[in-house]
Amino acid sequence: MSNLLHKYRQQMQHEHGWDVELTCSDCGHTARPVYHGWKPVSAMRFGQSPTIYAILSCPQCHKNMQAEAEAKLVELFQLESIPPQNKSLLMQSVLLFAGMPLLLLAMIGWGILAGWWDAKAFISLAILPGLVAPLALLQNYRVARLRNQCDCGEPRYLFMGLLGRSYCYRCSTCGRLLRLRD
Ligand SMILES: [Zn+2]
Ligand SMILES: [Zn+2]
Repeated sequence: MSNLLHKYRQQMQHEHGWDVELTCSDCGHTARPVYHGWKPVSAMRFGQSPTIYAILSCPQCHKNMQAEAEAKLVELFQLESIPPQNKSLLMQSVLLFAGMPLLLLAMIGWGILAGWWDAKAFISLAILPGLVAPLALLQNYRVARLRNQCDCGEPRYLFMGLLGRSYCYRCSTCGRLLRLRD
């Protein structure tokens, strides 16, 4: 079990980074910015607004490059659509989470009609939320698996930030862009 958890965490982890050139709005220098790690951001995310986690600066004048990175993320990813495999996974989770309460209602209805629904049956109500959590984890795992593959054969996806609520990745081997939702 702990082995499984370890594998899960490994799969879910993504590498933060930034390896696309930016033009500094202060000194006009165009280059790959200096990457100083990343910081957590807890802003509300709406529509197509970008969220940058990487801390970036201009290699020439050391200006903070967050605004430039935000504009670049929008430019790169706004027309990028979520891959079909990811879309069908999202569809499945909608069906799953909508289907669960319906299934429950059907079970209760049937139980009352058939006469086996008594106080003890309510224990099964307590079990259901326990089932949903692992299913949600599994779903996230299957989405994460999409960024372990690339046409170039050497996938190395860097997480560049969020556009709205979708995750923006770029394969640093071949430059392929990948936009995912979970
Ligand atoms: Zn500069
Ligand atoms: Zn690639």
